[in-house]
Amino acid sequence: MASVLVVEDDQFVRSALIRHLTDAGHTVRSVGTALEALREVAHLSFDVVILDLGLPDLDGSEALKMLRGITDVPVIIATARDDETEIVRLLNAGADDYLTKPFSVEHLSARIAAVLRRSRAVATDAASPTVIRVGGLAIDPLRRHAELDGMRLDLTRREFDLLAFLAGRPGVVVPRRELLAEVWQQSYGDDQTIDVHLSWLRRKLGETAARPRYLHTLRGVGVKLEPPRTEPSA
Ligand code: CA
Repeated sequence: MASVLVVEDDQFVRSALIRHLTDAGHTVRSVGTALEALREVAHLSFDVVILDLGLPDLDGSEALKMLRGITDVPVIIATARDDETEIVRLLNAGADDYLTKPFSVEHLSARIAAVLRRSRAVATDAASPTVIRVGGLAIDPLRRHAELDGMRLDLTRREFDLLAFLAGRPGVVVPRRELLAEVWQQSYGDDQTIDVHLSWLRRKLGETAARPRYLHTLRGVGVKLEPPRTEPSA
């Protein structure tokens, strides 16, 4: 199961895609223009984007370039043009795979599964040896060691997981249900669980919800970790 963003201006194709993907157990959001797609990926995190090349507002390769400027999310291009040169160019420009229209549901599912396998494998690789640095935070997922401005943070297992997960995608608003799924391995739960751990984590980071530095809660949307803004000295 994945969270999928469908970018498609054709109403019929779009509803068919949404139906098939939902039936396959995926969570789907959909938009009809490239600019809406950019807004979506800037605010929410997806596992995969299916990008129609013939959009009303931006040329497909332009849309892809702008998406890539914001996110590393896997992108599957859907194109009516069976133009090999164009497809190769888009793959080189950062697309992960492509589908030529019309495509079958089975074909679509297989491509999504393949892209997810690859991106999850990369994420696991990347998570192991490297230290994640965001502002003054340094998090070593392998050694389960976290520091803030050179001082060791004494975190519980859950606080560490939460911090490491958010720091792994700095500046990205992570929806609460995704936090529950990834950090708590629960498909549902009450928001209080997250709020309580966030407030403990905040205290250890020396900040509060009212005066956030690293951890930002967007009401009804999710949580974001980003480097603190430099405050004007009082
Ligand atoms: Ca189109």
